[in-house]
Amino acid sequence: MIQLYIPLNFLGVIYREIKQSLTDLDKMFVLMEKDREVRDAPDAKPLRLLPLPPAGEGPGEGAAPDATVRFEDVSFAYEPARPILKHVSFEIPAGKTVAVVGPSGSGKSTLARLMYRFYDVGIAPPPSPAPRGSESPDGPAVGIALSQSSASRGALPATGASAGLDQPAVGAGRITIGGQDIRTVTQASVRQAIGIVPQDTVLFNDTVEYNIAYGRPGATHDEVVAAAKAARIHDFIAATPKGYATPVGERGLKLSGGEKQRVAIARTLLKNPPILIFDEATSALDSANERAIQAELQSAAQNKTTLVIAHRLSTVVDAHEILVLEGGVIVERGTHAGLLAQDGRYARMWAMQQVEATPVL
Ligand code: ATP
Repeated sequence: MIQLYIPLNFLGVIYREIKQSLTDLDKMFVLMEKDREVRDAPDAKPLRLLPLPPAGEGPGEGAAPDATVRFEDVSFAYEPARPILKHVSFEIPAGKTVAVVGPSGSGKSTLARLMYRFYDVGIAPPPSPAPRGSESPDGPAVGIALSQSSASRGALPATGASAGLDQPAVGAGRITIGGQDIRTVTQASVRQAIGIVPQDTVLFNDTVEYNIAYGRPGATHDEVVAAAKAARIHDFIAATPKGYATPVGERGLKLSGGEKQRVAIARTLLKNPPILIFDEATSALDSANERAIQAELQSAAQNKTTLVIAHRLSTVVDAHEILVLEGGVIVERGTHAGLLAQDGRYARMWAMQQVEATPVL
C-alpha cells in the first residue's frame, strides 16, 4: 500500500515514468482515476476472450483463449506535429509471437503502450490547461493530454479534427483484442489480460515477495517461489539474509538492471496472462543469463499471444512474424528465414549482429 504514502504532487512525475516503462501499476491507476489519459467509455464492458476452437486433437479441454491482437492501420502521435506511427497493420494470432525490431526511436515501445492502452490511437492533443487546483507548486500538473474525449470514443477514426485540434485529420485505425476494439472495453480488463516485462522495471519499496506477488495478488508463497525459480532469481533471493522478506528499492536492496528484469519476469509468470509484451526483455542481461532467461521466456510465451520488442535479433528468430519498424512505418516483415532471403535491412542487421559482441540497433 505504498502508493497511499506517495504525496499527491509527486504522482504526475511518477505516472509519466510509469507510462514510459510500461509498468502495470493498476492500483495506482485506481488512485489516479481522475487524471488518467485514457478513460473508459461509459458503456465499456470487460474484454471477453472466448476459447479458441479445438485444434483437432483432444476435446479442447483447457483451450487457450482467443487473444488475437490486431493493429489495423494504426497511426499515432504524442504531439500533433510529429507522427510516430504511420498506418501500421499486423496481427498476432492467438498463441503466436510477433517480434518488432528497428532503430531507437522508431516507435517500437509505442506499439506496446498503445496495446496496453496507455494512449489511444490517433493524435494525442497538446496538454489542456490543468484545471485550477490540480497544479502542484513543485511538479508538473498530473493531468496530461486526453488522447480522445469520451464522447468521441468508439467513433473511428480519432482525428485531429475530432480532438478539436488545428491539425489535418489522420486516419487513426484501431487495435483489437479477441475481435474487440480496445477503446470499447474496460482498461482494467485489457490490462488484466496483458503481462509486461518492461525495459526498466519499477520496484516498490517493499519486500521481494511483495514485488513478485504483485503479479497476482493473493498468490501463495510457494507460487511466488516457483515464479522466482522460473525467472532464475530464486537463488539470488535465497542468498540474501532475509530471503523473500528482503526489502528492495530505494530504501532496501539495490538490484542490478538484470535482477530487476528477472523480478519483472517472475511477476509476469505469476500473473499468467493470455497476452505478453516483452519490451527488450533481455537487454539488461549478460549473455549467459540472456540465454537462460530466453529459454524461460520462450516457455512462458508458449500458447500466449506475445509481442517481443527486441534489440538482439537472436531473441526473435523463432517468431511467427518479425516486423522491421523504421520511422513509424513497417518497412519489412516476414519470418527470420524469409527476411534473410530478402537480403534487405533485416539481413544487414543480422549480419552486423553476428560480428558485434554487444549489438545495438
Ligand atoms: P528505443 O529502441 O530507443 O526504446 P523505440 O523504437 O521503442 O525506441 P519509442 O519509445 O516508441 O521508440 O519512441 C518513438 C518516438 O516517440 C521517439 O522519438 C520518442 O522520443 C517519442 N516519444 C516517446 N514517448 C513520448 C512522449 N511521451 N511524448 C512525446 N514523444 C514521445
